[in-house]
Amino acid sequence: MKMLINGEFIDKDDKQNILNPYNGEIIDTVPIANLGDAHYAIESANLAKDSIQNMSAKEVSNALYSACVELEERKDEIAELISLEVGKPYKHAIVEVNRSVETLKLSAEEAKRIYGETVPLDVAGSADEKFYAFTKKIPLGVVGAITPFNFPVNLALHKIAPALAAKNTVIIKPPMEAPISTLKLVEILNKYFPKGVVNAVTGYGSEIGDALVTSPDVDKISFTGSVATGLFISSRARGKKLTLELGGNDPLIVLEDANIEDAVNAAVSGAFSNSGQVCIGVKRIILDNKIADEFIDLFVKETKKLKLGNPLDKSTDLGPVIDESAAINIEETINNAIKDGADLLYGGKRNNCFIEPTILDNVNMSMDVVANETFGPVAPLIRVNGVDEAINVANDSKYGLQAGVFTNNLSNALKCAEEIVAGGVMINKASSFRADNMPFGGFKSSGMGKEGIKYAIEDMCKTKLIAFKHI
Ligand code: NAD
Repeated sequence: MKMLINGEFIDKDDKQNILNPYNGEIIDTVPIANLGDAHYAIESANLAKDSIQNMSAKEVSNALYSACVELEERKDEIAELISLEVGKPYKHAIVEVNRSVETLKLSAEEAKRIYGETVPLDVAGSADEKFYAFTKKIPLGVVGAITPFNFPVNLALHKIAPALAAKNTVIIKPPMEAPISTLKLVEILNKYFPKGVVNAVTGYGSEIGDALVTSPDVDKISFTGSVATGLFISSRARGKKLTLELGGNDPLIVLEDANIEDAVNAAVSGAFSNSGQVCIGVKRIILDNKIADEFIDLFVKETKKLKLGNPLDKSTDLGPVIDESAAINIEETINNAIKDGADLLYGGKRNNCFIEPTILDNVNMSMDVVANETFGPVAPLIRVNGVDEAINVANDSKYGLQAGVFTNNLSNALKCAEEIVAGGVMINKASSFRADNMPFGGFKSSGMGKEGIKYAIEDMCKTKLIAFKHI
């Protein structure tokens, strides 16, 4: 695949092999861009600002709808690419593409609803001066989007589509582990917008990502990825507008009055979907002692039913993780927890890039598997007595992305909703729930700013005040 700058497909002699984590085969290559390519993309995106700003909101909306129709027509092809480069089971990859179609549709709709407001200046001004005053939402200019490997199409769209809806131009730097499906997406979008409005530059984060972050000609960085990279970016961005969607260590609390079967189903899909490589995946399961044994018996039984295998096989539930070094890190985290006293109830083994779905009982808060984000299919179990202890354990984390709580007791549900420190609290649903229109983004180390089309658009506009004094 080639990268796309200023409406042109660009190749380089310097290329990176993109590997299928399932069997190590080369799927394709992408060019490794250099700083000159990054600067060309920044210059092109700046030159293209007028061409999108001169489009009417209706034209922008129609262009997004057209891209949405094409993406829907090509959804099997794109889902297959995601499966190949990420190792995501096809059954989950197609869900990602269906959600991406929705994300584009929501953006096409939202492009028609970017309003300012009238402002009553007489509340503060001198009584004998009268004004008509109103605000206008205007585009920021150029948005730099930097994305992770785990949802290469929908997370790219959560940045590109609202940026376009608000009439910005965009440069995306996709992840080098899995850039191909993002490039396909950009190829589709580019057909419906003037040249230079949507650009994709493939290259290393430390070079191409950093060039976007530090350029005075990029007006905003919208980043999704790890806490470490997010913090580094914020130190390099020198006052630039930033949205940071970072890692999580999301709890699933199951209280004594919960529907156990529902909670187990949520735990299985929340902890093991995409082999646990989900920012809002269930990463800590907090169980009231009164139901812990019942929950665990059923959880182990249901986990045993998961089928590991070729991601392209439509019956596969779990594929490999993104690469062998990630798999080795996860294996080490599991082994360290066991060495420190955790009980392995199921799984625990690695085979190349595959990690078995793993359940660990009797973990404690100082273990790495609980204290930090494990980006793999690992479910640590923590037993507590009652709702207060459950909330304390949930909040005992530097992260605060989302949380899930299972209870049929209204006052416990409200208590959890009020007291858990996280960007979203789901009652009777796992933390891994996300609808693409909802405000999404974490507290504490999990980030700053919100995505979810309408909320992303707010952060991709400037507000200008215009005041007319009566004469
Ligand atoms: P990562 O931080 O390693 O990489 C993310 C992107 O940043 C890649 O495109 C990478 O090339 C780029 N990058 C790396 N160094 C950079 C630099 N110095 N300057 C600019 N860009 C740079 O993350 P990953 O391993 O691809 O993804 C996994 C992480 O992402 C997990 O922590 C996960 O929780 C998080 N994540 C968060 C969300 C969310 O919405 N909160 C969603 C998905 C993933």
